[in-house]
Amino acid sequence: MKVFKFGGASVNSADAVRNMAQIVQKHLETEPLVVVVSAMGKTTNLLEKLVPGSSDSSTMHELRQQLEDYHRNIASELMSGDNKIQEKITALLSQIDIMSAQLKPAVDNYNYNYDQVVSFGELLSTTIIAHYLDHLGIRAQWIDARQVIITDDHYREGHVDWMATQKAIHSLRQSNNQVQVILTQGFIGGTSQHFTTTLGREGSDYSAAILAYCLDAESVTIWKDVPGFLNADPKFFADTVKISQIPYNEAIELAYYGASVIHPKTVKPIQNKNIPLYIRSFITPDDEGSSIGDYKTLVPETPLYIFKNNQILLSILPRDYSFIAEDNLQVIFGLLNEVGIRVNLMQNSALSFSICVDNNPQRIGILIERLKSLFRVRYNENLQLVTIRYYNQQVIDSIVAGRPILLEQRSRSTEQLIVPCR
Ligand code: ASP
Ligand code: MG
Repeated sequence: MKVFKFGGASVNSADAVRNMAQIVQKHLETEPLVVVVSAMGKTTNLLEKLVPGSSDSSTMHELRQQLEDYHRNIASELMSGDNKIQEKITALLSQIDIMSAQLKPAVDNYNYNYDQVVSFGELLSTTIIAHYLDHLGIRAQWIDARQVIITDDHYREGHVDWMATQKAIHSLRQSNNQVQVILTQGFIGGTSQHFTTTLGREGSDYSAAILAYCLDAESVTIWKDVPGFLNADPKFFADTVKISQIPYNEAIELAYYGASVIHPKTVKPIQNKNIPLYIRSFITPDDEGSSIGDYKTLVPETPLYIFKNNQILLSILPRDYSFIAEDNLQVIFGLLNEVGIRVNLMQNSALSFSICVDNNPQRIGILIERLKSLFRVRYNENLQLVTIRYYNQQVIDSIVAGRPILLEQRSRSTEQLIVPCR
């Protein structure tokens, strides 16, 4: 059994859905194909603004209409004159309306409300696509991921209950022997109490990995708008090189440093079962793409770059010239954990401790305020954190390009630099 994952960009228009369905059709086998789909295009961003309390009511009204028009148009372009799919869309939209009216827009409910509303992106996309596959004569079964990906109630970042998920997925497998495609939503799950949860933004890759793990899949393929795993994000770098083979541990390192090609949680489940992960282009689906697996080295061996913009470098200094030691560090990490800030890079000296973190305006303000009650705090904003794996001096110089280096760390394989954004 193989698992395919299609992200928002691969299903953002009627033509895109036709292309996606062609890819699916071409790979039908005796065993059913498991297809995981994200919300269409930028629907998740739009739905975020429909969470109660996120926008004023006239904006909400407009956005709600945009959501409706976008999905109805794609469905009618794909299946003109088909009333049944329009009725299904109506049903989903009215569920959103009824639920949004019932949700209380309180701050402490925000994460719960978010998941209840935002999950409809994937429900809409998979409902339309299941219907379309049926039109093409493909025997597809639509599965509600909220009943098979079982999580705790950590809304917006559900933690998977692997035992319960495994059990739910196995019963699914037994009941589906006539089916060619099992189609389900990425990104969403449900608690044992049947409340909807999500796995974190861009979490559909992770959904595919969870399903693959539980089904002992032969492989996972993520269909993207890039030709494979590139050595840098083409937004930041002109001459990218496609990496054809990536060892699992390298993929985990890269995701950790912020490479956005796959969701960071995706690799662990598939590595644990030695399932290969392919990254292929839905634009040139006959090309080979990249594969992540049990390899010893990168092929080709080339420097890899990860750029993180909008970084802030905080230097934390004790007020009384005492050393930065374990007791102070414990307080600092306690605060970071409470405020929910992840450290991208850190360095300490006798009298200061520096951390580079994402400049998330809501959280950083709170962190600085709380740190200032205990320490002196200095900071620089608008920085870029550059990570270079398998660096050499020439590539470092070309990346720095004369910019001042605020902080630098080097290990045998990895160079990290903090420089002002270009
Ligand atoms: N639709 C969700 C998002 O945009 C999940 C995903 O695309 O992976 O974050
Ligand atoms: Mg998406």
